[in-house]
Amino acid sequence: MSSRPDARSRALGARALELTPGGVHSNVRLTGPSVFFERGKGAWLWDADGNDYVDYLLGQGPNFLGHAHDEVIAAVETAMRRGGVFGAQHVLENEAAEILLDCLGWADQVRFGVSGTEADQAALRLARAATGRTKIIRFEGHYHGWLDNVLIKTVDGVTGPASKGQPAHQLADSITVRFNDPDGLATVFAEHADEIAAVILEPMMCNNGAIPPQPDYLRQVRELCTRHGAVLIFDEVITGFRLALGGAAERFGVTPDLAVYGKAMAGGWPVAALAGRAELMSLFAAGVNHSGTFNSSIPACAAVTAALTVLRRDRPYQRIEEHGRRLIDGIVRLGADHGLRLRVQGLPMAFHVGFGPDEPITDYRGLEALDLRRYADLVPTLVGHGIWVAPRGIWYVSAAHGDRELSVALERLDAAFDAAGRPGQTKIIRGPLSR
Ligand code: PMP
Repeated sequence: MSSRPDARSRALGARALELTPGGVHSNVRLTGPSVFFERGKGAWLWDADGNDYVDYLLGQGPNFLGHAHDEVIAAVETAMRRGGVFGAQHVLENEAAEILLDCLGWADQVRFGVSGTEADQAALRLARAATGRTKIIRFEGHYHGWLDNVLIKTVDGVTGPASKGQPAHQLADSITVRFNDPDGLATVFAEHADEIAAVILEPMMCNNGAIPPQPDYLRQVRELCTRHGAVLIFDEVITGFRLALGGAAERFGVTPDLAVYGKAMAGGWPVAALAGRAELMSLFAAGVNHSGTFNSSIPACAAVTAALTVLRRDRPYQRIEEHGRRLIDGIVRLGADHGLRLRVQGLPMAFHVGFGPDEPITDYRGLEALDLRRYADLVPTLVGHGIWVAPRGIWYVSAAHGDRELSVALERLDAAFDAAGRPGQTKIIRGPLSR
């Protein structure tokens, strides 16, 4: 089965392997089918051979408004004509900060950055400076960027570095616990109470299995942090502005001390943010360093303001949920029709598809019950039929996914699931859909 649908993509892929390691510029893409895209619009992507795809990956999340959203493009274009980066304050910064804080509702101040990885680092440094402590509690399966002090892999309950070249001692100041296990967290606090600077977590574990918090769990985490004087950091890089306008904090009704945002907040533009309570954030002007040449660049601020203006005005959340629910129903029903017992977990705007038992999975170790390889093997067939998703099982729905996208997606899923049972029949060469 080929994961490279057509000739031009294949040729570009071969050349890419010569130009860049593994042919990709982020290791997350090493495992995906190699398709070269030329453009995206709304919920659609077009590859270099002219094939179209309904996109349920959204660039790993950022294109929550769909690709190339007209209002975001117009705002960025206008802004860029006035310059790109000044190394100084500029008027769009305040606009972007105002709307972001208004959408969140709970945070007093914000700092903009470029990637979630670095905004997470800023959050950890701030928490350590504020508390005078060094240890960080974090969770199996949660991702907070690719740097040495946060990248982890947990195998058989043992957590360690996830990459060659990553010194193990860089993880010495973090304690890794299981998600959705308030007792485990309480035990660590009891043992290390005065050493814990922060607890950092994805309020819904989207990076592995799209696992929501159990009812009341985040409140318990909040309570433990408050009781022990630790800073609670929500890593909302995926959940922010996606689960609700105010992200997971709004959706689950629990307020962190600091939160990190990225992806959905800027219509596809590379921007991240750290937001939080003023007494913490103000330390950035009192001895805690957070820097970056491209922080709050002119186009970035324009993109944030435009994207959040659209989200705050249109409130597409209900529509996205409805699309997601119908899509999930279709995946499960069509899978069953073709003998594929797929299970779906998560929320309609961000869910995980896999093979395995129907019972809900509540933490990273529970994912061992899934046949992740079998799903990854199915993905090239989905891609070959014009559904763009990643092997790790996450699906995202955007505000640009409408009825037409849903019916095309379901038709294609039907054909893909049918083909999945017939080896050798899975490579579909399609022309562009008439629009
Ligand atoms: N935190 C979370 C929860 C993420 O999902 C990601 C990226 N997938 C990051 C941090 C890192 O963000 P970036 O890739 O922008 O550095």
